[in-house]
Amino acid sequence: MCGIIGYTGSQASEPKLITGLKALEYRGYDSCGVATKEKITKAKGRVAYLEDLLRNSEDMSTVGIGHTRWATHGEVSKENAHPHRIGKITLVHNGIIENYAEIKAELQTQGVKFVSQTDTEIACALINSYYENSGDIIEAIKKAQKRFVGSYAFAIMVEGENKIYATRYKSPLIIAKSKDGYYLASDMSALIPFTRKYYRMNEGEIICLSPNGVELFNAKISTPLWEISNLSIEDTRKEGYDHYMLKEIYEQSTVIKNTLSKRIKSVLPDFSEDGLSNDYFKDIHEIHIIGCGSAMHAGLVGKGLIEKYAKIPTSVFVASEYRYNPPIKKDNTLCIFISQSGETADTFASLEYAKQNGYKTLSIVNAQNTSIAIESHNVIYTYAGVEIAVATTKGYTTQLAILSLIALKLSLDRSTLPLEQVKDLTSKLYNGVPKAIETTLSTRDKIKFLAEKIKDRDDAFYIGRGVDYYLCKEGSLKLKEISYINSQDYPAGELKHGTISLITENTPVIAIANNIDLFPKTVSNLKEVKSRGAYTILITSLRVTDEADCIINLNAPSELEAIFSSIISVQLLSYETALLRGCDIDKPRNLAKSVTVE
Ligand code: GLU
Repeated sequence: MCGIIGYTGSQASEPKLITGLKALEYRGYDSCGVATKEKITKAKGRVAYLEDLLRNSEDMSTVGIGHTRWATHGEVSKENAHPHRIGKITLVHNGIIENYAEIKAELQTQGVKFVSQTDTEIACALINSYYENSGDIIEAIKKAQKRFVGSYAFAIMVEGENKIYATRYKSPLIIAKSKDGYYLASDMSALIPFTRKYYRMNEGEIICLSPNGVELFNAKISTPLWEISNLSIEDTRKEGYDHYMLKEIYEQSTVIKNTLSKRIKSVLPDFSEDGLSNDYFKDIHEIHIIGCGSAMHAGLVGKGLIEKYAKIPTSVFVASEYRYNPPIKKDNTLCIFISQSGETADTFASLEYAKQNGYKTLSIVNAQNTSIAIESHNVIYTYAGVEIAVATTKGYTTQLAILSLIALKLSLDRSTLPLEQVKDLTSKLYNGVPKAIETTLSTRDKIKFLAEKIKDRDDAFYIGRGVDYYLCKEGSLKLKEISYINSQDYPAGELKHGTISLITENTPVIAIANNIDLFPKTVSNLKEVKSRGAYTILITSLRVTDEADCIINLNAPSELEAIFSSIISVQLLSYETALLRGCDIDKPRNLAKSVTVE
C-alpha cells in the first residue's frame, strides 16, 4: 500500500511527481504529498487536490519525492501525510515499522519532537540522528536497517543534495532510467509516461540516484541489471469507459483467451512455456491454495474443480492465517499462492512460511517480476494486463482460468477423466467461456433494472450450493466493496439456521444456481426467504421461468461457462448498483489495491 515516486534529473520534478502519483493512487488515496529541494506540499485527500495546490508553482527543483498514502499509523490528516522531515532528512515510506514505539521513546529522551502520529516520522528521525552522528547517509541507512522491525520501502532526500537514496524490505520499489534522469517508484505503472527501463531493487540494497548515475550499496552487483517493461500507455487509459472497472469487466473475454492461449497445445493443457515440466503435477497428493480476498475466492472455485476433475484433496487458506493455523504437513503437497499484484504481504509471508517448511510452491500472479512471482519455486502469470480499478474483475477471472486449466492438467495426468473429456472441457474453457462472457455482458440492461431494485437497501444476501456458493462469496464481496451494501454470503442451506431472522420486506436475496442436482434445494431456500418478504433474484444457466422475482438467464451450456458467466453478471450488478448509489467505483472507501502490509 502507498505509492512512492521519486525523480532526479535535468527537468523540474513537481509535474513528474504528480503524473506518477496519479498512476499510483490505486495503491492508497487518503492523503498525498511531494517534497522537492525547495519545499514540502501535502494534502488530505486525492492527488487532484495536490495538483491544484501546485498548479501555479514556480518551483523548478530537479529533484523530488512523492507519496500517496494508505494510513496504517495515525489518522488521515495533512500532518500524517508523507513526506516527513526531521533535521536534514526528508522521506516517504511504504510499510509498517513495527517497533516504532520503542524507537520513539528512545529518540524522545534525546529531545526529538514529533508532529505526526506515524511510524514513518520515527524512521525519519532515527535516520537523521544516525546521519547527524556520522555525516554519512549510507552508514546511517545501514544502521537504521538493523533497527527496523517490519516492512519498508523508503525514498530519502538529504538537505541540499540533488540525490535520492532508496532502500526496501518486503515492500516493493523499482528504479528506472531515462534520457532526462533517474526515477524510482513502487511499481512501473507510474513511470510508463517517462521510461520503460527499470531495475527491481532487492531487499536490503541501498541505492543512490543522482541526476547522472546510480550507485548501489549492500548489493551483490555493482550496477543495476536493467529490464524493459512491456506495459504500454494504452494499458493505463480508460479508453472511453466511465470507469476502469467497467473497462476491465468488458476486457475479460479477450484477456482470458490471452491467459489461456499459450497454455493449450493440441486442445490439452500444457504449462511448458511457464517452465513446468510435463510431470510437474504428477506426484502431487494434496494441494493448499493460499490467497486473500478475491484471490482466495478464486482458490475456492479452483478447489471445487480440482477435487471434482482430479480427485486431489485441496484446502484453501486465508493467507493471513496460514502460518498461525498451519495444516499438518504431508509429503507431496503443492502450495499454490494467488496474488494479482504479486506483492500481497500476507500471501508473501505465507509463501515464506511454506518454503521454510519444505513445501513445493507455485504462484499465480499478474504483475510480473514481483516478490511472490520471484520467490515461489515456479510462477504462472495470468497476463491480465494492468488492472487499475481497486475491486478486481479480470484479475480474478484470469486466476480462475489458470486454476481451471490446472484442474484439467491434473485430471489428465492422473487419468481421472477420459482424454476426450479433458479435450472437450479444455475447448469449452478456451472457446466457450469467452463467448459466454460476451453474451452475459449483453444482459447489462436487465442488470441495470436489478440494480434499481437493490440500490436503496442496506443489506443483501448471496446464497448458493457447491461451487455456486464459492461464486456467491465473490459476488457478495464485490457488492460490499464498491456499493457499501452490507452483503453476506451463505451456503443456501445454512440461512435457515439463524440468519434468516435478518430477512425483512424486500431484502434482496441473490441465488446462484447452475447445478441441476442442487437446483431444487437452492430454489426451495429462495422460496423460504420469499415467504418472509425477500426480493429474490436467481442467476442460473438452467432454463427456468418463475422461480424468483427476477431471473438472470445465463447462456452457458456447461459448468465452466456457467462459472464465468455468473461472475460477470455479479460484477455488473455490483457496478450498476454502486453507480446508482453514487459511489467512487474505482477507488472505494478505505481500500487500496496492492495490500503490502500484513
Ligand atoms: N505506516 C505508514 C503510515 O501510516 C505508511 C503506510 C503504508 O505504507 O501503507 O503513514
